[in-house]
Amino acid sequence: MKADLTTKYDMLVPRYTSYPTAPHFNDDVTADVYGRWLCELDPKTALSLYFHIPFCDEMCWFCGCYTKIVKRYEPVSEYLNTLLKEIDLVADRLPGRFSAHHLHWGGGSPTMLTGPDWMRIMDKLRARFDFAQNAEIAVEMDPRTATLDYVRAVASAGVNRASIGVQDFDPKVQEAINRIQPFEMTRQVVDWLRDNAIDGINMDLMYGLPHQSVDGVIDMIDKTVEIRPNRIALFGYAHVPWMKSHQKLIKEEDLPDNRQRWVQFSRASDRLEERGYVKIGLDHFALPDDALAIALKNHTVHRNFQGYTVDDSPAMLPFGASAIGALPQGYVQNVLPLRDYTRAIDAGEFPVQRGRALTARDKLEADAIMRIMCDLECDLDQVCAAHDMTPDALDAGLEKLAPMAADGIVVIDGRHIRLTAQGRPFVRLVASAFDAYLGSGQGRHSKAV
Ligand code: SF4
Repeated sequence: MKADLTTKYDMLVPRYTSYPTAPHFNDDVTADVYGRWLCELDPKTALSLYFHIPFCDEMCWFCGCYTKIVKRYEPVSEYLNTLLKEIDLVADRLPGRFSAHHLHWGGGSPTMLTGPDWMRIMDKLRARFDFAQNAEIAVEMDPRTATLDYVRAVASAGVNRASIGVQDFDPKVQEAINRIQPFEMTRQVVDWLRDNAIDGINMDLMYGLPHQSVDGVIDMIDKTVEIRPNRIALFGYAHVPWMKSHQKLIKEEDLPDNRQRWVQFSRASDRLEERGYVKIGLDHFALPDDALAIALKNHTVHRNFQGYTVDDSPAMLPFGASAIGALPQGYVQNVLPLRDYTRAIDAGEFPVQRGRALTARDKLEADAIMRIMCDLECDLDQVCAAHDMTPDALDAGLEKLAPMAADGIVVIDGRHIRLTAQGRPFVRLVASAFDAYLGSGQGRHSKAV
C-alpha cells in the first residue's frame, strides 16, 4: 500500500446501511404517512419484519445500539404487550394478508425475553402473517445470558439463525469494554444452538477496540474459526462518545490509531480468507457454501440496517421503540423514548418519529452506493438505465473519485468503478462520492477505515 493512505483519507463517513442515512431523516414522515405507505403495499410483497428489544442487563461500553439497562423483567414483559398491540395495528392497516420471508430480532438483547414470551409473540405473528416455508427467523444472542432452556425455547419458536455477539476473546479487551465472556461460554452456546438444529450461526467480532493488537486480533480470528460459524462480521469499533456517552468510559489512549486499525482489519481479513472464508463487502465473511457467499457470486447481496444480507424483501416493517423500516416509498423510524412509543401504541397510533420519503434521485444514488458497498464495483451506466436516467446522471460522483483512482483505491474504466484489493478498506469513502447529502445536516460519522 502506498505510504499512508489511511492518514490521507482519515475521514468520517457513514456506514451506508441506508441512503439517505439516518441523520437525514426528517419529520415529514408521520404516522399518517406510514399508514398510507402500508395501505399502498401490494399484498404479494414478500415482507421482512424487524423487531427491536431495547433492553440489556448491563451496558457494554463499546455499544452503539439503543438500549436501556433493566434489572427486573416487568419492563420487558410490558414492552412485549405493547409489541403485540403494534403487530395488530400494522397487520390491520395492511391491504390483505401478507407473507413474511425474513424476521429479525435485534436489540438491545432479545436474550432478555423468556421462553413463554417467545412463544406468545411468535404465535401472534403467525396469527397475523403467513410465513414462507423457508423463512429466515434470526435472533441476536448474548452468550452471557443464553441458557440451554433459552436456546430450546427459541428453537421451538422457529428461530433458524443466531447472531452471536463476541467482539473479542481477550480478557484484557473484554475488561476494557465491560463485557466478560470467556471463549468456552461462547462455544457452549453455539454447541447448544447446533444441537437444537439452529445451524445458521453468525458471529460478530470487532477490531479497533481498546488494547487490541494485531496478534490479539489474529488469535481472536483463530478461536472463532475453531467454532466455524457460517458467517462472521468484523466491525470496526466506532468511537462516538458525543453520541454514546457511555463510550467515555473507554480511554482514548487505549484505542489503536487509524493505521493500527487498518493493519488489524487487513491481517484479520487475510487470515479469514486463508481459513476458507469468502469476503463480503466491507466487513462480512461467509463460508463458501453459505447463502451470502453464493449471493455474492450472483451480485444479489443486499445491505440493510442489520448489515449484509440475502434479504431482498422490498419492504422491511419496523416493530418496537427506535426500530427502523424501509418501504418502497421510503424509510420510517419508530419513536424514542420508550414511554412515547408505548403512549402512541396505546392510543392506537403508529409510533412514528421520523423517516425519509425517497425521491427518484435518492433511489438512483442509493443504488450506486449499495452496489459499491455490496459488490465493490458498480456499472454506473447500468444503474442510470435502471432508473431511466441519462448515462451521465452520476458523473459528478465519478469526478470526485479521481484522486482515489490516482492513489490506487479504485480503477475507473469509462463509467465502471472497481475497488482494488488495497482500496477495499476504503469502500465507504468510495461510496460516499455518490452521497449528495454528505457534509450537510447534523450527522457525524465514524472513521472511514
Ligand atoms: S448486549 Fe449488545 S445491545 Fe446490550 S449493551 Fe451489550 S452490545 Fe449493547
